[in-house]
Amino acid sequence: MTILTDRFGRSFPYLRLSLTQACNFRCSYCLPDGYQADGKSRFLDRDEVLRLVRAFAALGMRKIRLTGGEPSLRKDLPQIIEAIAAVPGITRIALTTNGTLLPRHVGVWRAAGLTALNVSLDSLDAQRFHAITGHDRHAEISEGVEMALGLGFDSVKLNAVLLRGVNDDELPNWLEFLRERDLAVRFIELMRTGDNADYFARHHLRAQFVEEQLVAAGWTLRQRASDAGPAREFQHPDYRGRIGIIAPYAKDFCAGCNRLRVTARGDLRLCLFGNFGIPLRPLLQSDADHETLVARIATQLHLKSAGHGLHEGNTGITPHLASIGG
Ligand code: SAM
Ligand code: SF4
Repeated sequence: MTILTDRFGRSFPYLRLSLTQACNFRCSYCLPDGYQADGKSRFLDRDEVLRLVRAFAALGMRKIRLTGGEPSLRKDLPQIIEAIAAVPGITRIALTTNGTLLPRHVGVWRAAGLTALNVSLDSLDAQRFHAITGHDRHAEISEGVEMALGLGFDSVKLNAVLLRGVNDDELPNWLEFLRERDLAVRFIELMRTGDNADYFARHHLRAQFVEEQLVAAGWTLRQRASDAGPAREFQHPDYRGRIGIIAPYAKDFCAGCNRLRVTARGDLRLCLFGNFGIPLRPLLQSDADHETLVARIATQLHLKSAGHGLHEGNTGITPHLASIGG
């Protein structure tokens, strides 16, 4: 079985698949004015998603992360999860969600075959959370996370984007939160995208800021699994939970890249901040195109570049992460 590799020796056991660009939140760094429909074609349907996943599985891909936009807005999400879970070779299905629909649906997603869950929670403080996301939904998201912890997922993680002057004083609260909970919180350094230059200038904070506090408090770096995400994960004997740091501006960040993305309309994106997409949708219309699709994915991978151009302020064709599946 081949594992997808590029010309820099990086392998790709992991696909991030966007199911929609739509979202019910207005996160200040992502969609501050809310989702605006662009009138273009509909998002991939379940059959198209399945053909895509079968092709990646044929190339040795084992793990699929469903994201968006907000993937839980898809009414057919349980059916999509169930269908992907039945594809031979796929052993892990993860979902990245803002968590608003967890209390209503997390049990159904788990029963359908979801194995891991990432929930975005930028603050433990309900008022701050409201200010960041535009929605006063902190209580129900927290309730949903507690429910998820009882459902036997392989992992439950929380994502918090670090924002200077907004949530950069919360580490002590997070540590208390993690003392007895078996989950990981990942602090993500704010990334500059096409639409958020001013916001980035005001609120960007290096992830090092948190990492230094952790090391000073006795937290130590854990060994990284080969198909792990880009987070550097820390542990401490007095805490059940773990802390991950995602630092896209760190010098070796791209060297560890192990994911490919497909947008909600079927474009293969080799880099979050790349300058082009490779349309796969024409090959998702019939099972007969399976071999051609597999070949197209494999041959296009050599176009993947060594790293992003974020340090030079080049955000590629990504206006915001909801457009590509962050
Ligand atoms: N709507 C879902 C959610 O928020 O979890 C999934 C899509 S969202 C684009 C995926 C992740 O990207 C979230 O954790 C979000 O906080 C993060 N994100 C969005 N824009 C970002 C940015 N400019 N810099 C860093 N992280 C960002
Ligand atoms: Fe929506 Fe996620 Fe973007 Fe927030 S980060 S606006 S929840 S897509």
